[in-house]
Amino acid sequence: MRNWEQLEQTQPAIVKMLTNSVEKNRLAHAYLFTGGRGTGKKEAALLLAKTFFCAQRQGAEPCQTCRECKRIESGNHPDVHIIQTDGASIKVEQIRNLKKEFSLRGVESHKKFYIVQDAEKMTDAAANSLLKFLEEPDGEALAVLLTVQIHKILKTIISRSQVLQFAPLPADLLIKKLTEHGIHEKYARTVSKMTNDLEEALQLCQEDWIAQARNKVIQLIDDLSMRPRYAFITLQEEWLPFFKEKTEVQLGIDLLMLWYRDVIRMQVDQTDQIVYIDQEDKLQDHALKLSQEKLGNNLQAIMDAKRRLDANTAPQLLMEQLLLRLQEG
Ligand SMILES: [Zn+2]
Repeated sequence: MRNWEQLEQTQPAIVKMLTNSVEKNRLAHAYLFTGGRGTGKKEAALLLAKTFFCAQRQGAEPCQTCRECKRIESGNHPDVHIIQTDGASIKVEQIRNLKKEFSLRGVESHKKFYIVQDAEKMTDAAANSLLKFLEEPDGEALAVLLTVQIHKILKTIISRSQVLQFAPLPADLLIKKLTEHGIHEKYARTVSKMTNDLEEALQLCQEDWIAQARNKVIQLIDDLSMRPRYAFITLQEEWLPFFKEKTEVQLGIDLLMLWYRDVIRMQVDQTDQIVYIDQEDKLQDHALKLSQEKLGNNLQAIMDAKRRLDANTAPQLLMEQLLLRLQEG
């Protein structure tokens, strides 16, 4: 379990705000932590719970070793409640049960702490029930709501909470987390350029999707540079059947863009930033062959293709025209 000092490396603004409020004894009654998955929202909520209960905290930093800290760490603290989805949603009964808990005094102290995970999944009834709770704050209770989709949270709940926006994961940290999940570095680097949401990144890595997608891109690039006439066959037989849905087409185009960005990085000697790390020889070769002007044109062509996809141009037409432009002089 990390402490505030460690969390500060990725979420400096959040940590500063919270630890300041702790030290000045000015914590709000309700917080809404919003931001992508993997940004440390739940971690911060549990740290705040420890800080709230710890008997021996130093400044805002909980000791991590007292009974209170240890029971929060193991999920066994009687006055710390975590509400999670029951099936697809958080139901009104769960909020009612929580209220019942609160109507009793804190089991061991006057203090109560509750965390609502995936708060956007509360049913309307649950959200309204919680709202009443937030409107009549008990001096000793602290609520932390966590969400990845703040636009799905009732405005009235937002207005009664202090909203803290967690920053997206920096790419290097995302890569580290992905490799900790057993993802090969070459794939971790690739998806880290496509999203900064850990969960989404893991999804892209599922069932080798990213490995296959990357291979399709490399194959198309090979065709374009060595046997241009085959590029259209590859497009028909390999690319289009693989990148089918609109979101997939989009990701395919993004992967192509990453290739040309890599070539530019090669030209300017920023090799530590390269995504296709297993293709350095080929990138080097392209970096020598392609002029900066041509690379600029290619990136422009890819941007245009993305725009046309947004405007609902058929993927096949759009990709064929993109290939023609990539092949030009
Ligand atoms: Zn402690």
